[in-house]
Formats: sequence, C-alpha cells, structure tokens
Amino acid sequence: MIPAGEALARLREGNRRFVANQTTATELSSHARRTALVAGQEPCAIVLGCSDSRVPAELVFDQGFGDLFVIRVAGNVVAPSQVGSVEFAAARYSTRLVVVMGHSQCGAVIATLEELLGRATTQSRNLRSIVDRVRPSVEPLLLGGDAADPDALVRDAVRANVRASVDHLRHGSELLEQLIREEGLVVVGAEYSLETGVVTFFDGIPDGT
Ligand SMILES: [Zn+2]
Repeated sequence: MIPAGEALARLREGNRRFVANQTTATELSSHARRTALVAGQEPCAIVLGCSDSRVPAELVFDQGFGDLFVIRVAGNVVAPSQVGSVEFAAARYSTRLVVVMGHSQCGAVIATLEELLGRATTQSRNLRSIVDRVRPSVEPLLLGGDAADPDALVRDAVRANVRASVDHLRHGSELLEQLIREEGLVVVGAEYSLETGVVTFFDGIPDGT
C-alpha cells in the first residue's frame, strides 16, 4: 500500500519532470513493464480528470503502465459511475490518493457559464447532465460579481467545479467516508495549466506534504 503523501510526492515529481521536458515515460511504458503488470496492479493514485485531449493524466504526471487509475469525463464531474469507479480502485487496489484534476479553459465549464449567461442553450439531454452537474458550483460566482472579468470568471469557475467534485467524493459515499476516516484515503483538488503544463494542488493537501 502506497500512503497518500508518498503518492502525492510522486505526482509532483512527475509533473516537475514533465514541465522540465525530462520525461521518463518511454521506459515507464516498456514491454517489460507491461508484461510484469499482467499479474496485477497497484496504482499509486486515482485521478478523476477531464476528457480534454490536452490533459492526459499519465503524460502530465510522467507516469506509466500500472501507475494511475484514471477516470476521465468532460468537466471532471462526479456522477454515480465516477463514485463507483473511485470506490472500486480504493477498495480493490488499496489506492490511498484521489486527485480531482480540472484544467484552465475547460470547455465544459465554459459551456455551463455561457448557458448561465443566456448565450447558449444545451439541447442534448446527455450533455445537459454534465452541465447540470457543473452549474451549482459556478452559479454563485455570477451572483458574486465575477462576471465583469470573463477570464477571472472562468478561472474561478474551474476551481469551484473541482472543489464541488472533491466535496462530492468526500461526502457522497459511505465506503469512501470510511476509508477516509480509518484507512488514510485522501481526496485532493488540482488544476492543470494548459499554458504552463504545471499542476497546482490546491484543496485538501495533507499537512507536511
Ligand atoms: Zn475540460
């Protein structure tokens, strides 16, 4: 079992290598490594990220086969199947770190803001199910006067949406609550910058890490 603090340190190190263009992903994805993993896996972290093609979790953390249990959905929203996926990995593989990773310029967040501002409407019921999950966390920002600065609004909305998903995972499942209470499971929020490649962890970081 890899403790949450150690897993977080690995991700931070990996992102540092990624930003410095010193990635080791080729050896991390070698045939030998793939073969060794056939017998089983012990991913060090669960990452709930956005489906955006510019935010591949393994690459931005410079991780390879078997390192991350990744769930990707537009807007990194939490629906029952995402909670179930986190429960599965945390219970089955004893993974102790969960990272909800949003990113700058997230299209799902921007689409939700446009709808709230009356500039667009979502026709598809399926797409609406994503917008509806983003909406509650970003709606208060418009009331708070953030709308005057569009860039700041998107920035704040991305983080508010990550915080909402973190909160949902911390409080939306008896199993996860128990793992947090008794087994050292930690859920943190993070944001990936498309502009710099840097991942900033900003919510729920354990003391001393
Ligand atoms: Zn996105």
